[in-house]
Amino acid sequence: MASSDSNSNSNSMLRLEGKVAIITGAASGIGEATARLFAAHGATVVIADVQDQLGEAVAASIGLHKSSYKHCDVTDEKQVEETVDYTVGKYGRLDIMHSNAGIVGPIEGVMDMDLTQLDKTLAVHVRGTAAAIKHAARAMRASGTRGSIICTASIAARQGSIGPAAYTTAKHAVIGLMRSAVSDLGAHGIRINCISPYFVATPLVCSFIGKEPEQVENDFYEMAVLKGVVLKAGHVARAALFLASDASEYISGHDLVIDGGVTVVMRE
Ligand code: NAD
Repeated sequence: MASSDSNSNSNSMLRLEGKVAIITGAASGIGEATARLFAAHGATVVIADVQDQLGEAVAASIGLHKSSYKHCDVTDEKQVEETVDYTVGKYGRLDIMHSNAGIVGPIEGVMDMDLTQLDKTLAVHVRGTAAAIKHAARAMRASGTRGSIICTASIAARQGSIGPAAYTTAKHAVIGLMRSAVSDLGAHGIRINCISPYFVATPLVCSFIGKEPEQVENDFYEMAVLKGVVLKAGHVARAALFLASDASEYISGHDLVIDGGVTVVMRE
């Protein structure tokens, strides 16, 4: 039975030396910040996204000796499986899967909802996350790797009124998928957790709100509970790093909220 020494230095526990990660939706925003942070902590990172030019550029700027880009539409299970196969074939292992790709989806309430748009939103968040968990966990099981799977949910998975209906539904399902996988994966030493951020001024949020990043940050800072700090993609990436690393060796089934306390204080 393997276990990290309880006296290990906490900084070294956050290192990802020798570990290989796939991050979906890593051409932009939170995924990009996480890819950069994982690589800075020693991991080799596969950027999986549908924005090829951006994804290639992120991989190149991290350094092609420790990063590569793979086109992967997470709504297509075959592409997710191929991305896992590509990673194991090229780097010899898979230790970390961060299922992070996302879209806002339709903004209408349920009475006006276009169900085809609901299907598309669920396909990215729920089908995409299910495919990522399934194929990453299979690869980890096959190699006996005690891996870590991280799914980006949202504070919209905590309440009914924070995001649009389809998005809120999808993010609740991401938490459900994570919880339902804990036992199956735990039997193979694989951990799975969620991260749930408050608003970060990424392209996803800025295009949804229709404002420049600085204005979006100002607006959400006004609504924030924790003052003196503006939530950035890097803060979310640090939560993902903790869950990816041996510092969280006994943490599974958790939803790590990065919201400065908003969901503790907010009421519907
Ligand atoms: P972003 O738009 O910067 O990044 C999302 C990435 O996902 C993009 O690169 C996009 O190309 C990719 N993507 C979309 N559909 C895809 C598909 N079918 N296959 C593969 N890649 C696809 O936005 P972000 O804010 O960094 O979002 C990352 C995750 O964080 C999402 O799951 C989002 O729902 C979640 N989230 C964001 C916030 C926030 O405030 N920004 C808050 C809570 C949760």
